[in-house]
Amino acid sequence: MPTEKILVRGKIYNPTSPSQWEYYTNGAFLMNALGRIEAVGEYPLLKQIQGITMTLDFSDYLILPGLIDVHTHLPQLPIRGKTAGTLLDWLNRYAFPVEEAFADTVYAESLSRLFFESLKANGTTTAMVYSSVHEASTNTAFEAAQYSGMRVIMGKVMMDQHAPQSLLENTKESILASERLAKSWHGENNDLIRYAFTPRFALSCSQELLEAAGDLHRRFPESYIQSHLSENLTEIEEVEKLYGNQYSYTQIYQHTGCLGPRTVMAHGIHLSSEELVLLLTSQTRIAHCPTSNFFLKSGFFNLPAFRKYHIPFALGSDIGGGPDLCLFRVMRAMDEMQLKNHGFVSPMEAIYQGTLGGAKVLSLEDETGNFQVGKSADFIVLNTQNLNCLETAEDQSIEEILSQLVYLGDSSQVIKTFIRGQEVYSKPEADFSTEFIKFQTHPPNVLQSPPLQTR
Ligand SMILES: [Zn+2]
Repeated sequence: MPTEKILVRGKIYNPTSPSQWEYYTNGAFLMNALGRIEAVGEYPLLKQIQGITMTLDFSDYLILPGLIDVHTHLPQLPIRGKTAGTLLDWLNRYAFPVEEAFADTVYAESLSRLFFESLKANGTTTAMVYSSVHEASTNTAFEAAQYSGMRVIMGKVMMDQHAPQSLLENTKESILASERLAKSWHGENNDLIRYAFTPRFALSCSQELLEAAGDLHRRFPESYIQSHLSENLTEIEEVEKLYGNQYSYTQIYQHTGCLGPRTVMAHGIHLSSEELVLLLTSQTRIAHCPTSNFFLKSGFFNLPAFRKYHIPFALGSDIGGGPDLCLFRVMRAMDEMQLKNHGFVSPMEAIYQGTLGGAKVLSLEDETGNFQVGKSADFIVLNTQNLNCLETAEDQSIEEILSQLVYLGDSSQVIKTFIRGQEVYSKPEADFSTEFIKFQTHPPNVLQSPPLQTR
């Protein structure tokens, strides 16, 4: 059993609830050889612990738990920021064509690598991800996820109706392909990788396919279901036309066995109070994607109602409906998008929803999300000094530092990213502004990085 003990020193911010936190200006935490946290507190106390083999000194920097993105679409990375009206028009104009291109496994490999490297460069350590309908390319995406060292919950999109012909699947084949991928990947990389059965949304899935997704989820312990719910008014009308109006949108998922504590539904904007109660009683989780809701003009998330009903939710970038990879920008939008509902989001609450709140939505709160003893050391090192031209960090309160991080911050602040104690990203010395890791996405034979491990 290795006995390495590494002390990580810095300004440690540890969120414990939407309104509570611990902050150690001269702080530290101790992690063992397995990348698990053994102690957290003041540096002068922790440095006296016997057996410390190494100290990583980030004392000039802010250290946060790794960011958690609970909703994103890998194949849509190239279409970020390309506008085409609201949801259904945008899907047809941009999202479906770029998902068709993902059928090419060579392209899928280079895009998947770029996607996960870019997430790490933006401080994201855990992500819940949609691939496309393509089994082979999804397998390739999982290989890239494993190579990245990230904590990834991902699944092959399931669609057997109301989508372009080239993306439509035979129902039985969609079910079998999802099962094969789950068998191959669920629990891989020491449980960093989990499978999410991924019926895209009620409009593009037959009742048989939705029921099969629910059945598969129950057969794979600790797997997930991810889908979309009540994002856009036209989408809701189309779902009503298809399923009749005796059931609400949420009830369609309930009757097909798709709701539950390991289900993450994206959006949930136009929900009735009956549907909110159904989400609460089924313990279903919501991915709130404010940058996407703004970009696609989908509507305003009713934060006061979610607070009132105590429905767990956390933040998603919804790439590419949402243009921003960096969750600090999504946090900012969480507050901005409350103008209509008169909700107010403090920077501390926004940080919570992008860290520990995300871990809770994904049922990973015993594993990641903050610096609690026993959890994995998933953390990011941030240079916040470049956000304030007048004062040093010592002159500001943590509330002021986090406020500037949420309202001004982006990937420029992320200088290192660690997952389970391993450094998985370090900002190149000369690069303090780019959002992307720069490498050629296509063709892949010019890639400079080492080949993926083959399975
Ligand atoms: Zn989405």
